[in-house]
Amino acid sequence: MILTIETKSRTELQDITSLIQNAIQRKGVLDGICFVYVPHTTAAVTINESADPDVKDDIIEVINKLIPWQANYRHLEGNSAAHIKTSIIGTSELIAVENGKLVLGTWQGIFFCEFDGPRTRKLHVSFVS
Ligand code: ZN
Repeated sequence: MILTIETKSRTELQDITSLIQNAIQRKGVLDGICFVYVPHTTAAVTINESADPDVKDDIIEVINKLIPWQANYRHLEGNSAAHIKTSIIGTSELIAVENGKLVLGTWQGIFFCEFDGPRTRKLHVSFVS
C-alpha cells in the first residue's frame, strides 16, 4: 500500500509509527515482516527514540552540521545535501510484526526523514505474512 506523507519543513523527522501500525491493522497482518520503503532521492526512513522529541531534534541539528546545505557541490538542482543525507540514512526498514503489532523496543519509533521539504511524499508499506 502507498501512504501519503505531508512534510512541513526542509529538514524534518516525522514519527510515522502509528501510521504504519494502522496499515498493519487495515491489512489484517498478524505475524510477518513489514517492509517500509521511501521512493524518493531526498527523503529517508529510520528507527530511533520517539519518547523524547529532543532526540530527533538533535539528529537534525547534527546531520545539518555534518552535511551543510551550501558547499562546493556539483549537482545543479542545489539540493545535494538532501541527496547525501538520504544515502546515509537509507530508504527502507524491515520491522517484524507479531500478533498484529510492530515489534519495536520501548523507546523506538519509525521516522520519515524529510531532507528537501516541505513536500507531499509517498511511502510504500508491504507485508510478508
Ligand atoms: Zn537533486
